[in-house]
Amino acid sequence: MLHNDQLAQWDRENFFHPSTHLAQHARGETATRIIRTASGCHIEDRDGVRLLDAFAGLYCVNVGYGRQQIAEAIAAQAKELAYYHSYVGHGTEASVTLSKMILDRAPSNMSKVYFGMGGSDANETNIKLIWYYNNILGRPKKKKIISRWRGYHGSGIVTGSLTGLELFHKKFDLPVDQVIHTEAPYYYRRADTSQTEAQFVAHCVAELEALIAREGADTIAAFIGEPVLGTGGIVPPPRGYWPAIQAVLKKHDILLIADEVVTGFGRLGTMFGSDHYGIEADMITIAKGLTSAYAPLSGSIVSEKMWSVLERGTDENGPIGHGWTYSAHPIGAAAGVANLKLIDDLNLVENAGKVGAYLNKTMHEALGDHPNVGEIRGEGMLCAVELVKDRDPRTFFDAANKIGAQVSAALLGEGVIARAMPQGDILGFAPPFCLTNAEVDEVVGKTVKAVNAVLPAGA
Ligand code: PLP
Repeated sequence: MLHNDQLAQWDRENFFHPSTHLAQHARGETATRIIRTASGCHIEDRDGVRLLDAFAGLYCVNVGYGRQQIAEAIAAQAKELAYYHSYVGHGTEASVTLSKMILDRAPSNMSKVYFGMGGSDANETNIKLIWYYNNILGRPKKKKIISRWRGYHGSGIVTGSLTGLELFHKKFDLPVDQVIHTEAPYYYRRADTSQTEAQFVAHCVAELEALIAREGADTIAAFIGEPVLGTGGIVPPPRGYWPAIQAVLKKHDILLIADEVVTGFGRLGTMFGSDHYGIEADMITIAKGLTSAYAPLSGSIVSEKMWSVLERGTDENGPIGHGWTYSAHPIGAAAGVANLKLIDDLNLVENAGKVGAYLNKTMHEALGDHPNVGEIRGEGMLCAVELVKDRDPRTFFDAANKIGAQVSAALLGEGVIARAMPQGDILGFAPPFCLTNAEVDEVVGKTVKAVNAVLPAGA
């Protein structure tokens, strides 16, 4: 076995890590953590350090680590048939079964699922299919996509453009012209703090209407949104947001993509975030929770309304010119089947709702009065603690102080992983669905210690 020092050296010399400060890492100023194993909600590194992972990897290991049923399904599939493609009507028992399992769980207007590898490529697929759809309908101008500031939809060229976070655009020449952004439904950060929640929703609607009027509805194909903003700060929408936004989209014949990469398969305590908020999407993006990240797999679920037009398109133009080598990869599909079965067998959607409610309640009780906690918010098994310099008047810390990162580092020192969200001083929690109430108590207790260590007397 290699020494940890040797691995750390090779890591710095050879490994280009995603979402990492490259120069600091190469210079050895940031930690290299080599993970060796994991079980339940805990991961363990090569130094034997055991950590409670309250972010489920990247909110993806929803069933928890070390599930033998999924590992065995993957192994059995690899032994029997590691790969065959899914072009021109080919498939495997696993991919056909998984398509049916997904459609059985999805909202009733959904018709088919196209498989990819990750959330980014699934959203790229969505945009291409929507452009194709409008071309078949004879609307070649109707192509722009509206996304929200603080939305996260991936890191590709179009999907990185859809993502509404500065770091993902800066120096990458993004966003591309076809992507335009509107107001984030982020009530706590509303510009006009005198607005009530209802007034703020009306403001978001007015902003959307104004954007559509400026651009012309005949140039706008779709609106994409996560049911709950994820990477942008873990922000549940203000009450009434989704019905109000959907009414505008319907009026202007603009399709809706629900990006359920984080919320799909139970994170909000319902199978889909769309069920939770009454979202009637034309496409749904799924990834992470589809396999609980035991193997890479994503999907674009297409509604019947779109499917009938896509079918017509191929009658007129020949086979759909869109395919990945690894679409419906048998190992990913086998992992997906085993994962969805496990979620059902262990009632994990219900557990996510119940334990998530306990997490949010306990966090409120423990930190709700802290002078540097501006807001504690969440839904299902998602929770965020937003740190502020002052609660009243609401004053944010200077970003350069990296308060969120300092608190998450202090929490790591206590043995708990929470994520410092990339924009704002926001501590994010998105644990596996198998989290217990006792583990919630540990997470919350240690979070209090970490917050107090960095912000002792209301810094
Ligand atoms: N959409 C949402 C809502 C996400 O949170 C993510 C990733 O975090 C993506 C899309 C992109 O998925 P991936 O990183 O698998 O490409």
